[in-house]
Amino acid sequence: MNAKLNAATSDLGWHFDNSYTRLPDFLFVTLNPVPVRAPQLIVLNHKLAGLLGLETKKLSKTEAAMLFSGSKLPDAAQPIAQAYAGHQFGHFTMLGDGRALLIGEHITPAGKRFDVQLKGSGQTKFSRRGDGRAALGPMLREYIISEAMSALGIPTTRSLAVVTTGEAIMRETLLPGAILTRVAASHIRVGTFEYAAGLGNTEGIKTLADYTISRHYPDLFDSDNRYLAFLQGVIERQASLIAKWMLVGFIHGVMNTDNMAISGETIDYGPCAFMDAYDNNTVFSSIDYHGRYRFRNQPHIAQWNLARLAETLLPLIDAKSDKAIGLAEQAINTFPELFQKHWLTGMRRKLGLFTEEAADVQLIEDLLAWMQKHRADYTNSFRALISPTLPADELFHGAEFVAWFTNWKARLVRQSGLEESSLSIMQANNPVIIPRNHRVEAALAAATHNDYSLFHQLLAAVTNPFDNAPKYHQFTTPPLPSECVHQTFCGT
Ligand code: AMP
Ligand code: MG
Repeated sequence: MNAKLNAATSDLGWHFDNSYTRLPDFLFVTLNPVPVRAPQLIVLNHKLAGLLGLETKKLSKTEAAMLFSGSKLPDAAQPIAQAYAGHQFGHFTMLGDGRALLIGEHITPAGKRFDVQLKGSGQTKFSRRGDGRAALGPMLREYIISEAMSALGIPTTRSLAVVTTGEAIMRETLLPGAILTRVAASHIRVGTFEYAAGLGNTEGIKTLADYTISRHYPDLFDSDNRYLAFLQGVIERQASLIAKWMLVGFIHGVMNTDNMAISGETIDYGPCAFMDAYDNNTVFSSIDYHGRYRFRNQPHIAQWNLARLAETLLPLIDAKSDKAIGLAEQAINTFPELFQKHWLTGMRRKLGLFTEEAADVQLIEDLLAWMQKHRADYTNSFRALISPTLPADELFHGAEFVAWFTNWKARLVRQSGLEESSLSIMQANNPVIIPRNHRVEAALAAATHNDYSLFHQLLAAVTNPFDNAPKYHQFTTPPLPSECVHQTFCGT
């Protein structure tokens, strides 16, 4: 049994209002986290806690470990495992939280609602053959990359804490077990709608849609066609989100429909990674055999996933199925243009452009083609451009790049603005520090041997991605050929 927190710890500032538990039963099961042997606090995000209105600094390490392992939950927590389905690599499966529990929805002092979820909290009805647990490495990976994404200004779930469980879990080898506390606008996924549709429960889809619209798209509730407007709203947020990923070279790695949040946040950091050398075919995930989720496919896959969402909404969009399909298709077909608009706006900023010219797309494509040909570092190449003169590195001295650079500088001059304003736009839109894979892997490897120093150094750097301070310079260097990480693993 899970004891309740004593007065001192329940006084942290929790304010639960668990609206999801008031939805129809088919959407979740109620259960407690499976207690763990010896929870130990590894990292606690006091800054995020502060934003949530939680006074985590009051907690002793032991109390924090009890809380974030689910061993002692706050009084008003109501843990549930959420049901969902998903297209995994294109194949439909009924899923659900197989190793996570939503402990409740916390309302911040500013009135914002956040899901608080424990990931790695033990088996549930949805565990299938899994052990319900998570390993330390992948949980720290999610912590570091989600916090980096947040600092980059990209909508994302966030990480509040990681605790180890004191239990070993069996993967390829025995690994230390851990639990991540994830904070999200919600965990409603494209796959949540697919679950209701998979049960053939049209009334359930309507209830879920109304709930989701009130929670994430309240302005659309009174639209003429509420469900079509909702679909369009989700499409718009995803177009903006995926553009942001592409602009920083982020590869999600498992864009299954169960890993696409309706809120528009990035969710589920498994084998995700940032590109070092630019190659738009980059795949890191060890299980992505056909490159379905490679870098350049991400917009296309997002649109494919949105079509799966649209299918679940058809009966709500119009009673006449032909009409519903026509309307949904029209909505889905807006995705490429919306994506392109966000991407182009972002790329213009990366190049210091604040006016628009038709030839800008070509200018950008030419730069990317040059990067691809020379396997130039994506992040550092954009930073190197923040200079009035040709970048010093020899890489930039070939005739092809010099021609591009001359063309771009001429384009900047046509803006009839100060070059300094272009440079400052570029400073603000081109990160210096990304969580480079070789650094992430080194930090996780050390952590698995109880040395957290690299993890904390890396975390400090990636949560200040635009800071050009010398203390962070070591994190800006691309991997040596011997350090290159070519594959990443889900760690499920
Ligand atoms: P993911 O690939 O992490 O998005 O997970 C896909 C599905 O597998 C979800 O339903 C997870 O809850 C489930 N899952 C992943 N790892 C485990 C595990 N160790 N035990 C039980 N279920 C798991
Ligand atoms: Mg998932």
